[in-house]
Amino acid sequence: MINLNKKIFMNIAAGGFLGTDTRSVSEIIDCDMSELAELKITIEKIVGRMKEITNTAIPALGNWVQAGKKLTAKVEEAKGLLSCPWPHPARFAKRVTYVKNTESGQTIKWADLNIHLIEKHNFFEGKGSPFRIEPKELVEIIF
Ligand SMILES: [Zn+2]
Repeated sequence: MINLNKKIFMNIAAGGFLGTDTRSVSEIIDCDMSELAELKITIEKIVGRMKEITNTAIPALGNWVQAGKKLTAKVEEAKGLLSCPWPHPARFAKRVTYVKNTESGQTIKWADLNIHLIEKHNFFEGKGSPFRIEPKELVEIIF
């Protein structure tokens, strides 16, 4: 269980990362982590694959590229930076990776900040947040 102080919680809530989720940040993290345990997959493996897909699509900025046997991906960038709500200096370009599984038709998207939140804080965001990532869906699509 991760113990979050009030200040971090306020940053997370103010940043819109909780969406309409009424659970605490710790509850959200615990729940997603047990889902990953059930899927028998690690954060390291997920983050590795996400970075691989984003890095494959970066050179083609704005255009769809093949990012694996059943995957196409594209990245789009907006001006400005996004900050991690945890108290450490971590800022990210507003880069969004869009991924489509051409076999199942499923799509998913993530911002660079999502990769950091998952890698360093095991945080997939609250339900109802525009950048909430469902771990099960993510795993289904990218592997
Ligand atoms: Zn952080």
